[in-house]
Amino acid sequence: MLKAFAPRAIRSTRPIKSNLAFRSSPFLLRTYATEAEEQDVVIIGGGVAGYVAAIKAGQAGLKVTCIEKRGILGGTCLNVGCIPSKSLLNNSALFHQIQHDTKNRGIEVEGLKLNLQQMMKAKDTSVAGLTKGIEFLFKKNNVNYIRGTGAFKDEHTIDVNLIDGGETSVKGKNIIIATGSEATPFPGLTIDEKKVITSTGAIALTDLPKKMVVIGGGIIGLEMASVWSRLGTEVTIVEFLGQIGGPGMDAEISKMAQKLLTKQGMKFKLNTKVTSGEVNADSLKIHVEAAKGGKEEALDADVVLVAIGRRPYSAGLGFEKIGIETDDKGRFIIDHEYRTKIPHIRVIGDCTFGPMLAHKAEEEGVAAIEYITKGSGHVNYGAIPSVMYTHPEVAWVGQNEAELKAQDVKYKVGTFPFSANSRAKTNLDTDGMVKFLSDAETDRILGVHIVGSNAGEMIGEATLALEYGASSEDVARTSHAHPTLSEAFKEAAMATYDKAIHF
Ligand SMILES: Cc1cc2nc3c(=O)[nH]c(=O)nc-3n(C[C@H](O)[C@H](O)[C@H](O)COP(=O)(O)OP(=O)(O)OC[C@H]3O[C@@H](n4cnc5c(N)ncnc54)[C@H](O)[C@@H]3O)c2cc1C
Repeated sequence: MLKAFAPRAIRSTRPIKSNLAFRSSPFLLRTYATEAEEQDVVIIGGGVAGYVAAIKAGQAGLKVTCIEKRGILGGTCLNVGCIPSKSLLNNSALFHQIQHDTKNRGIEVEGLKLNLQQMMKAKDTSVAGLTKGIEFLFKKNNVNYIRGTGAFKDEHTIDVNLIDGGETSVKGKNIIIATGSEATPFPGLTIDEKKVITSTGAIALTDLPKKMVVIGGGIIGLEMASVWSRLGTEVTIVEFLGQIGGPGMDAEISKMAQKLLTKQGMKFKLNTKVTSGEVNADSLKIHVEAAKGGKEEALDADVVLVAIGRRPYSAGLGFEKIGIETDDKGRFIIDHEYRTKIPHIRVIGDCTFGPMLAHKAEEEGVAAIEYITKGSGHVNYGAIPSVMYTHPEVAWVGQNEAELKAQDVKYKVGTFPFSANSRAKTNLDTDGMVKFLSDAETDRILGVHIVGSNAGEMIGEATLALEYGASSEDVARTSHAHPTLSEAFKEAAMATYDKAIHF
């Protein structure tokens, strides 16, 4: 009996023992695989999970076909997720800084104005460059790419409805499902991606809304709220929970981030639920009340962003036909080697368990192929970082205080504020802090939480430390370049095992 996936770390220790045939035929980008040419691996979905698995399979010399229905590779992340949102976050932050934070630096700018169309074009240029880059990598690694929608015919055969018309089918010894996720809809609000939008609409608005209500104060909601608030939209975020950033974000860090985002002009309604919405041709009203029930209030808006989370996507895949199972949340049920109950069919990325993050999907893409070729793979689910790309950024890895308390783990806390860091001071950008949590007895790092500029880069060091089982003293005794923001990271580690020097 296969069990639901339980996160655990598996290291590759066995020697490579692949008996799969190496591909010898030359690569042709638009040559469709036929039933005659059985593939070693067929991958359904060309998002981060699927395209990484395809490249890894090609590198291992496997005959591999990747099927993608969007007609462009890169999935949610490159087309409508990580990449376009970060382009808008970066450029809106620059606009906001020029508007509000240059005079004191001796830089005077006159005639500043927003060219939204150009900002969108810059985003589209970044997306196009990166998605084309994957096509190049497919070519380089002999990955056969089929543009169309795949559906199971049987346990080894995928029928494909081709984008350019017609049908084909492809057989695989192994099949990997990597069909990703979609925005969870809000009951009673019909998404039109113009007035009632998901993040996909939020990265493509053609006019600056005057007022926006964001339903959901998680990472995606707050990133989109940041973009539009910086450009001049009045944004109100309605969140059911008592904190922003989702339950993974440490409560102390979340509070600090909320304070800083409020200072930038965003309004928050926490412990509040949306009860209904009224969408008319020229008006939009969102009705809210206290999460525990109470007096109702109506919020006017030009646009409402539904950001209450994402759900696995598997529509039209026909997996039920062959007996593959999903749980009550629509996640494919797999074991620790990503196998469904049909062992040659594996599932990776957003459509199965674990955090819906691109780098998690990527790790699984590599590991799934290594399970096929070597019989072992490695993903440490205890060391997957999370980043919220607001300003300042929020990033964390490992466990937060609430999680440790719930498990009755005894821990030490060490913090260091950026206001005491020389580089942050010279940058005139001192908001935030670094917080370490380490085991009270062994000093092994259990979690690191950062709010501050560049937190998303700095969390890499924390992730490495966690992966290698480092103690806070290990980090504290490691030399960090001066003057850098990362010295705040070192000092927080010093504060955990002993004392910080500069605070
Ligand atoms: C606005 C936004 C911002 C985000 N920002 C970040 C971030 O900063 N960092 C981060 O780590 N993550 C971020 N994410 C999450 C990240 O995008 C996902 O975790 C990641 O894309 C998951 O990869 P995946 O390959 O599992 O799924 P997807 O990227 O969703 O790819 C699945 C692909 O499968 C295709 N497909 C589905 N069904 C079929 C079929 N039957 N036949 C053929 N093809 C099919 C789909 O068209 C899609 O292209 C963000 C998401 C959003 C929405």
